[in-house]
Amino acid sequence: MQILHHLFQVGGSLSGLTHTNQRDPFDDANVYVLQAEEQLLLFDCGNGETLEQIFTNMKYWGLSPEAISTCFITHPHWDHAGAAHLLQKRGVRLIAHAKTADAIQAGDERCCGFLYHKQFIPCEIDETVEDGQIISLGGIDIKAIHLPGHTMGCTAFAVETEGKRLVFSGDVIGTLGYGDFGWDGSIDFDKQSYLESLLKFSRMDFDIMLPGHGLIYFDHPRRRVEECLNQALIQWR
Ligand SMILES: [Zn+2]
Repeated sequence: MQILHHLFQVGGSLSGLTHTNQRDPFDDANVYVLQAEEQLLLFDCGNGETLEQIFTNMKYWGLSPEAISTCFITHPHWDHAGAAHLLQKRGVRLIAHAKTADAIQAGDERCCGFLYHKQFIPCEIDETVEDGQIISLGGIDIKAIHLPGHTMGCTAFAVETEGKRLVFSGDVIGTLGYGDFGWDGSIDFDKQSYLESLLKFSRMDFDIMLPGHGLIYFDHPRRRVEECLNQALIQWR
């Protein structure tokens, strides 16, 4: 699904772009591809069982899976990061926050395999990023924004391209038309951190928010964050 001239959504079971036998609309997260000159950057990679579907979708849009250089991972949950070990075998460089890297390298309950009755296959992350750090690839700057709470490693990635400010936000904000939270059952879920992250996120402004599941927010995405902050302040104190 083409979003901008150089931005595509190529995976996501809630959007029907990928599917598994479990018929769970949340078992495969949104996967985005950004063209950065000759290389392709992936944001999250799905659960692993859908990687071939993602590649088929990419080819439909004229995007070669061989051109994927890097995958930025928002957090270690199976539906977002289960394919990381497969990409690594193909020579793709994996980038994530240190807390996400630690979970993916352990492959433990922080990766939520149990939630899907799956075994998370661990792998090494090639490069860790800290809050505010900028990675430059193919003429594009990708800025990490650490937003812990849904998991302690949750990280959004901000990019400016085609005159628009984008943010790949993972599961920080939910999928409904108004502000709602990411799932709160993670073993490293933390309300206080989540509140602080929502406050921090609400002070930032973007043109397009690309979440981990469901609809892309083209219209005032900050309002969704503010609504979510409001709900969190009411419910979590
Ligand atoms: Zn998640």
